[in-house]
Amino acid sequence: MPQLAMALDLNKCMACQSCTVACKVLWTDKKGMEHHWWMKVNTMPGRGYPRDWEKMGGGYDSEGKLVEGRKPTEEEYGGHWEFKPWEVYTSGGKGTDVYLTPGRPTWGPNWDEDIGGGLWPNAHFFYLPRLCNQCSRPSCAEACPWDAIHKRQEDGIVVIDEEICHRCPDPLCINGCPYKEIFWDSVHRAARKCDLCLLRLQREVAPACLRQCPGRMIWIDHLENQEGVVYKLGHKWQVALPLHPEWGCEPNIYYVPPMAPPRMKEVAPGILDVDEDSGPRIPLDYLKSLFGEKVEQALATLEAEREKQRRGERSELMWLLISPRSSTLMGPFPKDPSQAKAS
Ligand code: SF4
Repeated sequence: MPQLAMALDLNKCMACQSCTVACKVLWTDKKGMEHHWWMKVNTMPGRGYPRDWEKMGGGYDSEGKLVEGRKPTEEEYGGHWEFKPWEVYTSGGKGTDVYLTPGRPTWGPNWDEDIGGGLWPNAHFFYLPRLCNQCSRPSCAEACPWDAIHKRQEDGIVVIDEEICHRCPDPLCINGCPYKEIFWDSVHRAARKCDLCLLRLQREVAPACLRQCPGRMIWIDHLENQEGVVYKLGHKWQVALPLHPEWGCEPNIYYVPPMAPPRMKEVAPGILDVDEDSGPRIPLDYLKSLFGEKVEQALATLEAEREKQRRGERSELMWLLISPRSSTLMGPFPKDPSQAKAS
């Protein structure tokens, strides 16, 4: 089956949340969807969004059987709240009392920003933008008793048939997705999720998250296009890896893992030096728990190719990751949104 896929270079993400906001204002800025963050950037290690999503189950077990999982609670989403910047500007110094309404929520996307893990001088974190993985084996679809979710034959995007979904009294798709990438719209009574901005793709316009990303860290392309960056990063160079492959959904969003600085040690009070023997600051075991065993080889390849480029030799991999032309990021969807509207 043809498959659209994305690659995201975690070394370039700065958690500016431009992707988060681009998605929010385009698709989920409506009543009943306040807690929908189809794209969000989590700090890792961290509890993420919804809070502790990695512990809620879903996906498949080692024998390939569906794991039922559970839905996040309202509290784990942090409640249905909105940013109220205008009220902040005009409230006469009431600040956060009016910033987030209603009430004072206790969680939200990237709520634990920059807390991360480890202790000084080896504290560490990185940013992980997350969206629906358009899985090749979508457990959300298998969990849906109404067959309302399917993969499009032409591009492998996972879509929800709203007409069927409306009849459902209990959206088990949310339980079935281990990434918790399906959200319930309480006003329109339907499950909703990222579809890679399908309406834009049909006009040859790249997804909003990708176009808005100032870090230029997202690529989209057909996975089978051997000349495309996504294929080259994932298959040729094998440095782009799926998130939690052990959950068995065969995700099609691939991540270039973060290269961390070396660990430091205190050699005299207040004086630090590189700790040559102890490896990178983000523990390899933690990265393996996210991206599987292949992350070790991926990091070694990235390191070797970076050295090659530093020596003045040309590294194809480094130039793919830099992608000086923004059109490279957009694959077969290079049109400007205003161009597409006019045509
Ligand atoms: Fe379904 Fe979740 Fe996979 Fe998206 S990430 S296709 S919602 S199982």
